[in-house]
Amino acid sequence: MEKHVPFKHRRTTLERAEKFISTHHFTDINLRSRLYPARKAVTSLTHYAAPGRISYEEAMKGKYTPAKIGQSFGPTWATHWFKVEVEVPADWVGQEVRLVWNSNTEALVWVDGKPVQGLSSEKDRYDFVLSSKQEKGQLRYTVYVEMACNGLFGAGQNSMIGPTDPDKHFTLQQVDIVTFDRDVYGLILDMEILYGMAKELPDSDRGYQALYAANDFVNACDVQDKKTYKRAKEISEKFFSQRNGDTQHTIHAVGHSHIDTAWLWPYDETKRKCARSWSCTIGLMEQYPDFKFACSQAQQYAWIKELYPSLYKDICKFVAKGQFIPVGGTWIEMDGYVPSGEAFVRQFLYGQRFFQKEFGIKCSEFWLPDTFGYAAQLPQIMRESGITRFVTQKMSWNLVNKFPHHTFWWEGVDGSRVLSHFPPGDSYHLEGHVKEVLYTANNFRDKGRSSSSLFLFGYGDGGNGPDEHMLQRLKRMEDIDGLPRVKMSTPDEFFKPIEEKEADKLCTWRGELYLEMHNGTYTTHAKVKERNRHCEFLLQEVEQAWALLVALGRAGGGKGEAGKAAYPSNAIERLWKLLLLNQFHDVLPGSSISIVYDDAHRFYKEIEDEGKQLLSKAVSLLGNALGGKSEKSSTLLVNSLGWQRSVVVPLPVNDTAQPSKRRKTQSQTDSQGNTLVCVEVPSCSVGGLESCVKDLEETESVHVEKQGEFIILRNKHVQAKLDSSGRLTSLRCAGSSRELLLEGCPGNQLLLYDDVPLYWDAWDVMDYHLETRKPLEQVTQKATVKESGPLRASIDVKTRISAESTVTQTIYLDAGSSYITFDTQVEWHENRKFLKVEFPTNIHSMEATYETQYGALQRPNHYNTSWDSARYEVCGQKWADLSEHGAGLSVLTDSKYGYSAVGGVLRISLLRSPKAPDAHADMGTHNFRYAVMPHRGSWQEAGTVQAAFNLNRPVKVFPLAQGVAVSQPRSFFWLDSSQVVLDTVKMAEDRPDEVMMVRLYEAFGGRAEVTLSSSLPLRSAGRCNCLEEAQADGDLPIKTEGGVATIPLKLRPFQILTLALTL
Ligand SMILES: [Zn+2]
Repeated sequence: MEKHVPFKHRRTTLERAEKFISTHHFTDINLRSRLYPARKAVTSLTHYAAPGRISYEEAMKGKYTPAKIGQSFGPTWATHWFKVEVEVPADWVGQEVRLVWNSNTEALVWVDGKPVQGLSSEKDRYDFVLSSKQEKGQLRYTVYVEMACNGLFGAGQNSMIGPTDPDKHFTLQQVDIVTFDRDVYGLILDMEILYGMAKELPDSDRGYQALYAANDFVNACDVQDKKTYKRAKEISEKFFSQRNGDTQHTIHAVGHSHIDTAWLWPYDETKRKCARSWSCTIGLMEQYPDFKFACSQAQQYAWIKELYPSLYKDICKFVAKGQFIPVGGTWIEMDGYVPSGEAFVRQFLYGQRFFQKEFGIKCSEFWLPDTFGYAAQLPQIMRESGITRFVTQKMSWNLVNKFPHHTFWWEGVDGSRVLSHFPPGDSYHLEGHVKEVLYTANNFRDKGRSSSSLFLFGYGDGGNGPDEHMLQRLKRMEDIDGLPRVKMSTPDEFFKPIEEKEADKLCTWRGELYLEMHNGTYTTHAKVKERNRHCEFLLQEVEQAWALLVALGRAGGGKGEAGKAAYPSNAIERLWKLLLLNQFHDVLPGSSISIVYDDAHRFYKEIEDEGKQLLSKAVSLLGNALGGKSEKSSTLLVNSLGWQRSVVVPLPVNDTAQPSKRRKTQSQTDSQGNTLVCVEVPSCSVGGLESCVKDLEETESVHVEKQGEFIILRNKHVQAKLDSSGRLTSLRCAGSSRELLLEGCPGNQLLLYDDVPLYWDAWDVMDYHLETRKPLEQVTQKATVKESGPLRASIDVKTRISAESTVTQTIYLDAGSSYITFDTQVEWHENRKFLKVEFPTNIHSMEATYETQYGALQRPNHYNTSWDSARYEVCGQKWADLSEHGAGLSVLTDSKYGYSAVGGVLRISLLRSPKAPDAHADMGTHNFRYAVMPHRGSWQEAGTVQAAFNLNRPVKVFPLAQGVAVSQPRSFFWLDSSQVVLDTVKMAEDRPDEVMMVRLYEAFGGRAEVTLSSSLPLRSAGRCNCLEEAQADGDLPIKTEGGVATIPLKLRPFQILTLALTL
């Protein structure tokens, strides 16, 4: 008979193909209905409600009672263990037999005491293979299932990011054994590719060829007759065998599972998420030797090593095989803006050291796919940590502007460059679909310059990473005409050819990678930010004090315990690692659920308590070691910063130095009854109080006077006029007629904004919040003079925010200080409001400058373009500045990171009040401090960098046990230029008894030739990288004269320089 060729309708044909493998329609008769031909209930199912997240051994001691399908288990975060006993029917011999488990939660299967596979209801991972080919001998199986009462995204109320529902229960829906038909499985996957190509290539020859092949495939395949499967297979294989040309884009498919170290679940659940996901990964690796999986975050490996030793052993095996690939080089995937420079360095130092020690691997790519913006100093820190490549995809989340590159050079503020790649699939949890492969190739924005992309596949968080379906799909797409070329690959296999062949064709992006989203995270959870900064400095001070002590001991300068003091390497490393953990990219930004912050604050307390103890001990031993003549005072002063400081300090009440014996200008009793004195302390020094007390000339003291409604504050640097609301109506450098504030627009103006984002509550402050600016003008306690000099003049004022919230400020100026400080206490009980403070200046400038890690960067002071305007809220470290030629104004902060500048108005972001995912974020009392500093010249000339350090790291006053002799202050390090900052002094990780590491940086953005001097006997000096590895030709000459060692140094703009000093 003649073959009647119908005029095929594209839509009906396409849908016919789709329905043939649908998971929702016609599942009783379509091909998928044949996937599990036989099904049987398990023999026995018993249950034990565990008291928490217990070990397998503890779980085995539990009392198990019968459980049944349909039963509910909870509440949220609870753990339930199940013992499942199975007897496979004899007629299943030879078939693939699986346990199917659906508890609507995450779960982990244990066999013979080992964690073997994660299960996840949200990502349809229900199956655990009992036997890939059932044998006669073993028909009985016993497995344990550890059920965690949470989903992939925790247990949010109403929405994914809603605050946790504490009483969620989960129904055990299915526990069965089944047979699995691999032939049917193969056909389903073939059809997925045919259908995908037919759908995604609508107007091409190839798309129509796929459509017709899919149609023929359905015609050929009679699901009830296995014999017809062969014909269908031939149709798909013929189509797949039609190969690509030579010029196709190449997709490097790398398995990945982005596991947030804490987010909508606590740290402890992450440990189990890792076990669940990575056991799945190991299982797949056994089956698929060409499957590669990139895995970051050393901390997660360390957890698995401690808690799941058998799994860790398997991981080590596959790392050695090159399939399980440690990437990133950091301790965790941290926030990209808020941590200090030193904290960034420690992420790499401890991360790389872990990977080297455990696997002999040093990562060559920084892996940070999900962080909310990337600071401009990161390229140099990467380079200094052995890393030359960078992977993220978060920039695809930009709200306004599309980032112009996917493969490019990212150049930091110092000129360091790293080869960067943003996988153009715009995701780090792809599933291996035709659509994603095509999107990756089409979306790639560096066509012509480069022709390959990374493709990161695998479910994140609790989805258990890549699954077999993804591997099967990608395998089929390796080389099919019409699709990009796909290969299982590694990050190294992706980057290497680009470095070798395309490096000089690529474009360069200079400066930060600003994410046009999530910019509320510079401010949310203010206490986390505050404790983060204080702990960063505390640990640096602990290290410095102990390093100086060890150095003195080595030089024979210490007696007794002080002379023998050993550097507490382990304690310091442990505390740093806790701090680094809390810098995870959902913890430090403030975007985690409430219970994560219970843990985070517990860790901060541990760091603070232990850090303070370590510091006190070191300082008291330093006091002993320094010896010297006995003084009246039993108080030590410590200046941890690398410059001399003249400051006002409060003396401890029990100090024996009698203020009455001093001239009037030398002391003052503050409002709390403390004695204030002015001290001059040398650079990086420790010494007795008495010899540091400084005589104050009349011209140096601070003055306060009332002028009608106004109050004038002035010292030799600053002259300010405040109104009765505590607002600055005039601000000048002393003796200057140049007014820095905009006429009629007061400084220190507190503002309240509406802060209702579109969805990401804790994360986003939207551009439209700027249109809701409301100045706070209701003063409940007018500005009154509290202290009137000569060392400190202060003013108290209280402002109403709302019926529930208030701001109380003590505004003060110290003798000799270059800035006015605003000690601020806020009672904060708001809902989606944003508190800021503004300083409207009359400074004319195109740009504002913000401190970044180990340096500074400029950002626009205008909204010229969409790129400028999108940066309406930006992140800075301790200061921001607006300057024109000859004068400027800096603001300094002790714990704030959100800033903005436009049209000469400089603002600091103080507090937010989002309600998700933490319903109580930021509610309560806050104490913080900011300062304003008018200056002549540029911020570099004015000493803004040093002033911000001074605000954050006051000279520390340590009362010592009575009878301890304390010496003249001894300066250990000093520099002959303010251009270079001495940032870190610590002992080396590997030789903590004899090698001191000193980290400095060029802070002004210019070339510097400086001399570092030390009163310590130094045997040799050499340049190192941030991993403390000696650099080739890094030896530096040391000249020692009169007990002072000097080392000449040359630095390029914003260079970080690490020195190893052998004692
Ligand atoms: Zn993440």
